[in-house]
Amino acid sequence: SSTMAKSKFEYVRNFETDDTCLRNCYIVVRLDGRNFHKFAEKHKFTKPNDNRALGLMTRSAHSVMEELEDIIIAYGQSDEFSFVFKRTSNWFKRRASKLMTHVASQFSSSYVFYWKEFFGEEPLLYPPGFDGRVVLYPSNRNLRDYLSWRQADCHVNNLYNTVFWTLVQKGGLTTAQAEDRLKGTLAADKNEILFSEFDINYNNESALHRKGTTLIWEKQDETVTKRVKLPNEEEKEVHVTRSRKRVRALHCDIIGEQFWEDHPDILED
Ligand code: ATP
Ligand code: ATP
Ligand code: MG
Ligand code: MG
Ligand code: MG
Ligand code: MG
Repeated sequence: SSTMAKSKFEYVRNFETDDTCLRNCYIVVRLDGRNFHKFAEKHKFTKPNDNRALGLMTRSAHSVMEELEDIIIAYGQSDEFSFVFKRTSNWFKRRASKLMTHVASQFSSSYVFYWKEFFGEEPLLYPPGFDGRVVLYPSNRNLRDYLSWRQADCHVNNLYNTVFWTLVQKGGLTTAQAEDRLKGTLAADKNEILFSEFDINYNNESALHRKGTTLIWEKQDETVTKRVKLPNEEEKEVHVTRSRKRVRALHCDIIGEQFWEDHPDILED
């Protein structure tokens, strides 16, 4: 046996299973807050939408995009966030468990780390957790449909929650009565209740709440002033312009064509 002998225990490594993500596919990691219905209650989230909580989710997702490799777009709403890795990514040899756990732990630690920036004196009562899953999408169409599905979910939930809490907060209904009132109603009925009974045009509600949050990379030219020493010992100020990537948050429709026409670099051919 060689002098660099492996221990007799080392064979256990072979029990690890291969979880390499299929090449050429977009890798989506979706996180979702664990039992956030209760977490929201305990931390006095405002209903139907707590902007501190949404801001903290977005801040944490921003940290994930900055710290991890190869994420091209992220989309979030409520207590969930989806991260899309570029199809050619070879980060951690595309091992699903590595990608998913790095996303989940970076996100969770950021959520705690930045808590105070968003919630101020409201104390964090216990450590929150997030589950993660990995889904592969082989085509641009499939990936777009995935993101559309999440944004449609945001829309459906937000329309329901907006009417529900308006009926309770402004209409004086109990939560049971509001639930009853909305049973079997369609989107048009909900819009109509808001408009005719409360003078609210749903389309004028906050885009953050209606559309969720999309994070993309944006190229920005940044000009910095540098002092350089010339060969003759003289000092001189020079302006250097370099292109930097920055994460940008949008609250727009990503279901239709417009967004993708405006940002043709996000999806690869
Ligand atoms: P699970 O562990 O199965 O995900 P959950 O309680 O987290 O259970 P979800 O379906 O993920 O269930 O729903 C998240 C819940 O968290 C929402 O229904 C809402 O009550 C609450 N919530 C999340 N974000 C906000 C927010 N920004 N403002 C108000 N409430 C929120
Ligand atoms: P990777 O991201 O690949 O895991 P890594 O730098 O975390 O890279 P590891 O093989 O996991 O590499 O090794 C962890 C390293 O962290 C150790 O080699 C050591 O330098 C440092 N470290 C961890 N825990 C301690 C500790 N309790 N005291 C001192 N050093 C530590
Ligand atoms: Mg759930
Ligand atoms: Mg949840
Ligand atoms: Mg959820
Ligand atoms: Mg390590």
